[in-house]
Amino acid sequence: MNDISDNPCLSCGACCMSFRVSFYWAEALALPDDLTERVTPHIACMIGTNAAAPRCAALGRGSAGPMACGVYEARPSPCREVQIGDDKCTRARERHGLASLRHMA
Ligand code: SF4
Ligand code: SF4
Repeated sequence: MNDISDNPCLSCGACCMSFRVSFYWAEALALPDDLTERVTPHIACMIGTNAAAPRCAALGRGSAGPMACGVYEARPSPCREVQIGDDKCTRARERHGLASLRHMA
């Protein structure tokens, strides 16, 4: 899916504003320096997500839609694991007052 009309993520972004997006530090090498930070010697995270009200610094930097990821092709593993309508998606959307997309899972 890469058309905003058939990809709800491009106007959602709830999972990019709900959790700490952390990963093995080496994954950060594929990402711009100003978008990641170290959490521990071995773990890095997307800047903005290690906060009480997380919001990834890459959110909204893409050109495909208002909530498009600015580093979509290089996004780290936690972002690749979330699927539309899965538990994490559902929790994130609930947190932001959005309807579940379980029917799309
Ligand atoms: S996976 Fe779910 S919560 Fe994340 S952007 Fe897409 S629709 Fe929104
Ligand atoms: S890197 Fe992209 S997909 Fe991952 S949390 Fe940030 S904006 Fe969302």
